[in-house]
Amino acid sequence: MSLCFDLGEEQLMVRDGVRKLLSRFAPRRRELRQAMYRREFPTELWEAVADAGFMGAMIPEAYGGTNMGIMSIVFLSEEMAAFGVSHPLFALTSMDALCIVRGASEEMKRAWLPEIAAGRRKLAFAVTEADAGTNTFRISTMAKRDGDSFLLTGEKQWITAADCADYILVVARTTSRHDCDAQGLPRAHGLTLFLIDPRTEGVTLTPMATGSIEGARQFIVTFDNARVPAENIIGEVDQGALPLFLALNPERILIAATIVGVTEYCLEIACDYARERKVFRNAPIGSYQAIQHPLAQVKIQQEATRLMTWRAATSFDRGDDLAQTGVWSNMAKYMASDLGVFAVDRTIQTLGGNGFDQEIGVIQLWEGMRLFKTAPISNEMILNFLAEQTLGLPRSY
Ligand SMILES: Cc1cc2nc3c(=O)[nH]c(=O)nc-3n(C[C@H](O)[C@H](O)[C@H](O)COP(=O)(O)OP(=O)(O)OC[C@H]3O[C@@H](n4cnc5c(N)ncnc54)[C@H](O)[C@@H]3O)c2cc1C
Repeated sequence: MSLCFDLGEEQLMVRDGVRKLLSRFAPRRRELRQAMYRREFPTELWEAVADAGFMGAMIPEAYGGTNMGIMSIVFLSEEMAAFGVSHPLFALTSMDALCIVRGASEEMKRAWLPEIAAGRRKLAFAVTEADAGTNTFRISTMAKRDGDSFLLTGEKQWITAADCADYILVVARTTSRHDCDAQGLPRAHGLTLFLIDPRTEGVTLTPMATGSIEGARQFIVTFDNARVPAENIIGEVDQGALPLFLALNPERILIAATIVGVTEYCLEIACDYARERKVFRNAPIGSYQAIQHPLAQVKIQQEATRLMTWRAATSFDRGDDLAQTGVWSNMAKYMASDLGVFAVDRTIQTLGGNGFDQEIGVIQLWEGMRLFKTAPISNEMILNFLAEQTLGLPRSY
């Protein structure tokens, strides 16, 4: 296997392209960051990213995409986060697009993918329910056929950026768990993927009491006989599990890339401050090992996490089997979630009291980075998976 210690010429070009794109926003970097903390959607940045072809990176050229692969969105995610601005819909839309690429009918691909590639459809993702949690197979949101459409009833929670999305990819049951058990069908049977406009009658969005995590709001999304046309189903009825699981590794890879970028942003702030701030004698605090050693440790963890993230992305783009890519993707996400918390913590410590000044914009990262130990998959579940897949230990869940 070729390991990616150095980037190839094409990859360097893509990364330079991202940097150039972001340099156009450099004079407004601080303003964009403050807008993100107010949870305003970065429309101008979204359009620039789509114009540069990144929203079509997972989409074949035949459907209006650029087919650049996930590695290009890894660069995008890392560089945006290092710049200090990002939004979860970049990754969620790419992940949902992949579900369509891998699972949808030809007709649906032609209708949806060019729109997504052009940046005209932003997509959120809704699987979590109060009584199901980590165990997706326990979800109970039901979709019942009614002529040429389906009626959805149930409730999702923690749905990120449902207010900014043009559509939400909703995982619902078309065969209940009870019926699956009664018919001896596998537990993955009966899930169906729907794309639903959140403005549809019967859909209610209720904001949850969260902070400015990732620059987006989270919602309880309630479906009360909400009508979705059958043509908005990705793939086959009852067969949504496979396209769904194919899209989960990319989500983990892109989260890891974002955290590597946030770490870069933290190191920039911490090191600039440590070089200038003087407290005792005439020495900057950055000359104290108590300050510089932990920052050097952050740097070591960041480089290791970046390599693991690139390894996972390479495995995905090369088309390795799902379980193998899953191992690297989960390792990258696990390493990254520890890195993110450590990096923010050490940056706050370096800044002293200023670390808590919202104007400086580090303290707001705390919740966002801590989230990734819990979501989109908890680190305990990652260890369960890795113990089974890499150590041959019995499945524990
Ligand atoms: C800010 C935020 C944004 C989110 N955005 C979205 C979104 O856009 N779309 C969406 O669908 N969901 C979203 N989620 C939901 C998120 O994916 C879930 O919170 C996460 O998967 C954990 O599920 P849970 O909260 O139900 O925890 P639970 O499943 O109840 O788990 C609780 C604890 O028990 C542990 N645990 C459970 N089972 C095991 C086991 N077998 N072995 C060891 N430990 C175990 C877990 O690791 C965890 O620590 C979001 C959540 C948050 C907080």
